[in-house]
Amino acid sequence: MKVNEIMASLEAKHPGESEYLQAVREVLESIEEVYNQHPEFEKARIVERMVEPDRIFTFRVNWIDDKGEVRTNLGYRVQFNSAIGPYKGGLRFHKAVTPSMLKFLGFEQTFKNALTTLPMGGAKGGSDFDPVGKSDAEIMRFCQAFMLELWNNIGPDQDVPAGDVGVGGREIGYLNGMYAKLARKYSTGVLTGKGATWGGSILRPEATGFGALYFTHHLLERAGKELKGKTIAISGFGNVAWGAATKATELGAKVIAISGPDGVCEIPGGITKEMIDYMLVMRASNRNKVQDMSDKYPEAAKFTAGKKAWSVKCDIALPCAFQNELNEADAKELIANGTWCCCEVSNMGCTPEAIHTFQKNGILFAPGKAVNAGGVATSGLEMTQNAEHIGWAGEEVDAKLHFIMKSIHEACVKYGLQPDGTVDYVKGANIAGFMKVATAMLEQGIV
Ligand code: GLU
Repeated sequence: MKVNEIMASLEAKHPGESEYLQAVREVLESIEEVYNQHPEFEKARIVERMVEPDRIFTFRVNWIDDKGEVRTNLGYRVQFNSAIGPYKGGLRFHKAVTPSMLKFLGFEQTFKNALTTLPMGGAKGGSDFDPVGKSDAEIMRFCQAFMLELWNNIGPDQDVPAGDVGVGGREIGYLNGMYAKLARKYSTGVLTGKGATWGGSILRPEATGFGALYFTHHLLERAGKELKGKTIAISGFGNVAWGAATKATELGAKVIAISGPDGVCEIPGGITKEMIDYMLVMRASNRNKVQDMSDKYPEAAKFTAGKKAWSVKCDIALPCAFQNELNEADAKELIANGTWCCCEVSNMGCTPEAIHTFQKNGILFAPGKAVNAGGVATSGLEMTQNAEHIGWAGEEVDAKLHFIMKSIHEACVKYGLQPDGTVDYVKGANIAGFMKVATAMLEQGIV
């Protein structure tokens, strides 16, 4: 396999799908050497088959806004790979959603899910519906209209969607309500991230952020460092940022910045429990403005318009918002300000140039597919509880989540260990995920 040849053919087939092509290139560059040591992979054309989704559903979603006007959006579900289990991955509602974005996310999800140690294939879906400024009733009507198209293609053994950017517990509730009504099926396993009283797992809302901090803990421990007393800058203020800020604070670190599309809030004294709780109010308001934090806590949080979290001096950077939110210039600014670790919590949060800059400068860096896998892993634990018709206590879920994150860290070390004793976490995560999916595909023949 030659990466450049495969990429040239993909670029010709899918022109302009920049996020998807970026995600595929990153993985192929990491696995090239290992792949070429396995002629059986080449014979079965594993790479050519793995980089294309199994199928994509595209549909129109019509709904009526509060003024009584008809609105039209596009909906998608990308079922990427089912070699190790039913399709699994979130739904993203964001105005910038395109097939390219969902294909990159579905591709990443396939490897991430493989890393979790649980039997889940990879998928992603969503819509270009923009939740910003929408009322609760509009959100409900959109979710219902979206499910009207999707319901027949999902199910507990087939495809299990969950949340992602713009889709949280409220949206999963509306989606599940409509699914049950349409399908006349009332089992709890068709979506994850459900409410705690109707099949949701305890700790699922916290899981992505908690898992990311467990991973960061193990990464620091291996490097002879610890979280306690360190300053952390976080981008975003949604569900993932909220979980990360909660666990970081609990483990003794100080979260000194959060950000939004409008700018950054610096919190020199460290974020408090009250402020962390307020992040949920900000997300639920659909205003999408981080300035709301400094309006509510003017003494503690100072807002600067148009700046990113990466302009704030910190030990550790945690991108928790969107793909490519941290670029080369941001990486250079962080390094100049003394940052020595970056754990990507968002999916593909850093550009390839930013990752290269971190690695060249000896900054501890780990990629999203390893760091943020705790979210989907806990979705997998939710599926197990649903299948068994039981619910585990919070301590049990937390212990399993921690164990999974530790295992993912170990897998990264196993496949990413460098001759000088450091770990290339990008390579480690990509090879570990790839080997599992490739072996499963090989053993199941040409399908
Ligand atoms: N959207 C999350 C992710 O990127 C969670 C997916 C899930 O729980 O299925 O992994």
